[in-house]
Order: sequence, then structure tokens, then C-alpha cells
Amino acid sequence: MPDTSTPQSWEARAEAASFYGFTDLPTIHERGTVVLTHGEGPYVVDVQGRRYLDANSGLWNMVAGFDHPGLAAAAKAQYDRFPGYHAFFGRMSDQTVMLSEKLIEVSPFARGKVFYTNSGSEANDTLVKMLWFLNRAEGRPQARKILTRKNSYHGVTVVSASMTGKPYNDVFGLPLDGFIHLGCPHYWREGRDGESEADYTARLGAELEDTIAREGAASIAAFVAEPVMGAGGVIVPPEGYFQTIAPILKRHGIPLVSDEVICGFGRTGAVWGCQSLDFMPDAIIASKAMTAGYFPMGAVILGPDLADRMQDAAEAIEEFPHGFTASGHPVGCAIALKAIDVILNEGLLDNVRALTPRFEAGMARLAQMDHIGEARGMGLMGALEAVQDKAGKVPFDGSLSVSERIANASTDAGLICRPLGQAVVLCPPFIMTDAQMDEMFEKLEQALTRVFAEVG
Ligand SMILES: *Cc1c(COP(=O)(O)O)cnc(C)c1O
Repeated sequence: MPDTSTPQSWEARAEAASFYGFTDLPTIHERGTVVLTHGEGPYVVDVQGRRYLDANSGLWNMVAGFDHPGLAAAAKAQYDRFPGYHAFFGRMSDQTVMLSEKLIEVSPFARGKVFYTNSGSEANDTLVKMLWFLNRAEGRPQARKILTRKNSYHGVTVVSASMTGKPYNDVFGLPLDGFIHLGCPHYWREGRDGESEADYTARLGAELEDTIAREGAASIAAFVAEPVMGAGGVIVPPEGYFQTIAPILKRHGIPLVSDEVICGFGRTGAVWGCQSLDFMPDAIIASKAMTAGYFPMGAVILGPDLADRMQDAAEAIEEFPHGFTASGHPVGCAIALKAIDVILNEGLLDNVRALTPRFEAGMARLAQMDHIGEARGMGLMGALEAVQDKAGKVPFDGSLSVSERIANASTDAGLICRPLGQAVVLCPPFIMTDAQMDEMFEKLEQALTRVFAEVG
């Protein structure tokens, strides 16, 4: 238990002066904040010296672990050389130039253009502003609606929260008008009795067609989707999903945008989630693993068609009036260049592929437990869905706070893993060893066994 006995404790100080986001406050009052000082490989260490294996790579992003010497050195070298600059008024750092070239090179696009932000949320906001700007410039000012899916996560700014398909945004009076949430592509939960996976995919395709017909194709600016939903609980779409959706969008001239903030840079076993799921988007949103979490940075990567049209639209009024002070920050770009090199050329992506069978086997083993309803995932992202009744897929009563219990029991066992709804999400760093992966599943099994004994 953390030390909350004196007002001088780290836990008390954290709670006194920090306002928490996405944090269960009763748990904080009861257990205190885990205040961390540093990390070692995939482990983080708290002020009491306790080590936790972080099965969530921080927030999906610390894919190279917490003490990668090459990334720290790249940051230091760039801080020594040129510690900050913007990308306005026709100036940008050499690192920014090189990173844009690199991102296009590793993207699925033959050519394109990159715009930088400081986060994934800002990248989604930027994308929407780009499309609104573009459509007005092309004489279609009414083409503003954005289609996303229920349970999707696209961020927390006003626009990206409106794109996000989570019910909690109701407390802000969001979504804004014109943000339309289609069905969540989760066959296990949403498929009807007797409905095959292919039938479910066809139903989602029909829903998209109906929505376009109802709203009017001319009023829609884009369809934005995560290849595999992350914060929605690691939802892999049903077979043929993107192969059904993409042609419908194309037929109506609606851009398909892949929000690769989680999937991008190796998480699914390919560089991009759209490659794992075999579809070609018109633009990509990147962040999280792009800097391996060593710098806050996001990017909109436009494919050839949108890049050309955005260029023309901006030329017509002589600029694109948008940008953040730290967009294309030279230190962030230097770190991203190194992170991409580390992931693609120093074995991290290879390790994702090598570890995936062990990861899947560990998930499948825990899926045997009486209170695990579904094990799902792709590459090194997975989720175990806790259920009261396995056959009926009945969730636990909300009052039992099963997910909080699992998270807390895991913490006690020296494992950080995150509950999402009633699913336990695992997205380990790409540097994990076989032994660390085994440790992760052993500790999780210990935590689940304890919680299911309490609530089962
Ligand atoms: C995390 C996330 C975002 C938001 O990124 P932030 O950097 O937290 O603003 C957007 N899209 C997806 C898919 C994400 O997982």
C-alpha cells in the first residue's frame, strides 16, 4: 500500500495539487497515486522502489521501453545542436525536412505531405480543419460531416472528442453536430444470433450505405477509422470489413482516413494497421509510437490526392492558416527519426512478429478461465473480456467495479495493465523478451484468479 499517512508523502502531494484525467478517483482516495521515478526496459519504478512490468507500454507509446540509450542520445544531441524552432513563415529545421521524407518513405503512399502537431488529438483536429478548408476551397462548403464508429477513440480536443464514439463525452455536451457514429465492428458483442461474421460485415456495409443516403454524400467530409480499435478495447474488425467499407466510400468520393495513432509503427505486426488489414487510406493520422513516447508529437500524413488538392487550396489563398508553435519541433523530429530507425531497422518490429505467437498463446490460455468471455487482438495488442457468464456473454454488474479490481490486483502483483470497460488490455513494449512476456501472463493470471474468486 502506498504511504498516505503524512501530508508530505508523494501520494498526498500528488492528490493535493494535481487534477487527474481518466482516473478512477475512489481508487486514488483508497490506494493513492503510483508516483514513478524512472524505468528499466519494460519496467517502471515508483518512489518506494517497487518495480512494475508495464504491459501497456505507458499509454501504448513507450514501445522501445523506458531507458533506450539511442533515443536519449538522439534527444541530447539535438538539444545541444538546435533545441527548438517552429515551422511557420517559411522556416523549418533540417530534422523536420528529413522526418517528412522518412514518413512518406515508410508510409503506404508513393508520395504525399506531412503536417505536424503535438498529439494525436491535434492531428485529428488538424485533419478535420484541412478537410473543411479543402471542401470550401473546392466550392463544397457543405461537405463537413465526419463519420466514425461507436466505441472508437480519436482524442480529447473538442473535434477529436466529437469523433470519439464513447458515451462519456456526453458530460461535455459532445459530440458537436455533424459527427456521426456508425456501428462498432465487434462481431463477438454486436453480431446477432445466427448471424455469420460475413453477414455482420455486410450489415455494417449496409449501415454505411444507408447513412450516406440519409445524410447525403455531398455533406460528408470523411470516414475516419482506427484499423484495430485501441481504446475501444482492442476491437479487430470482422473479416472483410475494410474491403466492404472502402469501395462504398470511394464510390461516393468520401476520403477514408486511417487513425494509426496506436496501430502505426509496428503494433499490429506490420508498419501500419492498414497494411495488416489490407486497405489503402487517403490519409494517415500518426502519433504515440512515432517518437516511441520520448516526445509529444503527432502528424497528419496526406496521400497523393489529398496532398495535391490541399496544396492547390492553400495556393489559392496563399497559405494554410493553421499550425502549432511546436509543430515540427526539431528535437521531436530527431527523436522520431531515431525511433523509426530503431523500430524498423534495429529489430523491434521483428520482435513484435517473433513474440506474437507467444502473446497469442498466453491470451488463449487465460481465455480458458471461467470468467473470460473473449480473447482478441492482433500483433502485440490484445484484450481479455471479463464476463459474469461465459456462455451468455453477460458482463459483470457495474457496481462490482471488476475492471478496477483487476487493475488494482495487477498493480499489487507488480504488473501495470489497463482495464477498458470490462476488458483487460495488453499492449506490451516491442522490446519484451520471452521471459518478460511469461512474467506478464503469470502476474495477470494471479490477479485475475484473485478477482474472480472475490466476485465470481
Ligand atoms: C491516443 C489516441 C489519440 C489521441 O492522441 P493524444 O496524443 O492522446 O491526443 C487519437 N487516436 C487514437 C487511435 C489514439 O489511440
